[in-house]
Amino acid sequence: MTRRVSVVENILSANDRLAADNRARLDEARVFAINLMASPGAGKTSLITRTVEALRDRLRIGVVDGDLASTLDADRVAALGIPAVQVNTGGNCHLDAVMLQSALPQLPLEELDLLIVENVGNLVCPASFKLGVHKDVLIASVPEGDDKPYKYPPMYRGVDALVLNKIDVLGAFDFDVDYFRRGVEVLNPGLAFFPLSCKTGEGLSAWLDWVEGQVRSFKEQG
Ligand code: MG
Ligand code: ZN
Repeated sequence: MTRRVSVVENILSANDRLAADNRARLDEARVFAINLMASPGAGKTSLITRTVEALRDRLRIGVVDGDLASTLDADRVAALGIPAVQVNTGGNCHLDAVMLQSALPQLPLEELDLLIVENVGNLVCPASFKLGVHKDVLIASVPEGDDKPYKYPPMYRGVDALVLNKIDVLGAFDFDVDYFRRGVEVLNPGLAFFPLSCKTGEGLSAWLDWVEGQVRSFKEQG
C-alpha cells in the first residue's frame, strides 16, 4: 500500500511549523496578534484605521499589511503614525507564515501589545495558511451578499470572530441577516459576531471591547 502525500500537504505542514515559530516569537514578546481576512473591499484597512484610532491611547499597536503589489493600504496605516510593515506578496493571493516571519523582525515587538495583520483580500486560501497569530478574524460586508457562509465554508469554519461591516447600507441591499447568521451558526456555532459600520461608527464599540478584552486577558496569562 502506498501512502501518497500531495505537494499541497507538504507545503501546508511546513507552513504550520513556521506558524508555530511565529507564535513562539509573539508569545515571547508578549504581543497579542490578530489576522484579519476578508474579500477585497470588505473594509480590512478601514477597520484597522478605526481600531487604531480608538485604542491607540490604551494599547500599543503595530500593523503588518499584506498586499499583492500596491502600498496604498500600508500608506493609510503608516499615516496613523504607528509601527507598520508592508509585505508585498508579489502577486501571491494570501499571506503565509514565512511572510509574517520576515515581517516580525522589522517591528518593535517588545514595545507592542497588539499586532494586527491585514491578509490579502481573498476568501479561499488564507483559510489554509496559518500565520501563528492568536485569533483569526473574518470581515464580511453587506454588499458581498448574505450567501457567503454557504459558498466559503472553510473560511467561516476556521475563524474566531466575525465582523459584518457596512451595516449602514443594509437598507439598499437584499441582505438577510438571519439567513447569513444561520449559515454561520451551522459552520461555527457561537462565533463572536460584530455587525458594524466603519463609516458611521455604529456597532464599533462591541468590536473594540472584544479586541481590548482579548489583549488584556492574554497579557494577564503567565
Ligand atoms: Mg485593505
Ligand atoms: Zn492564495
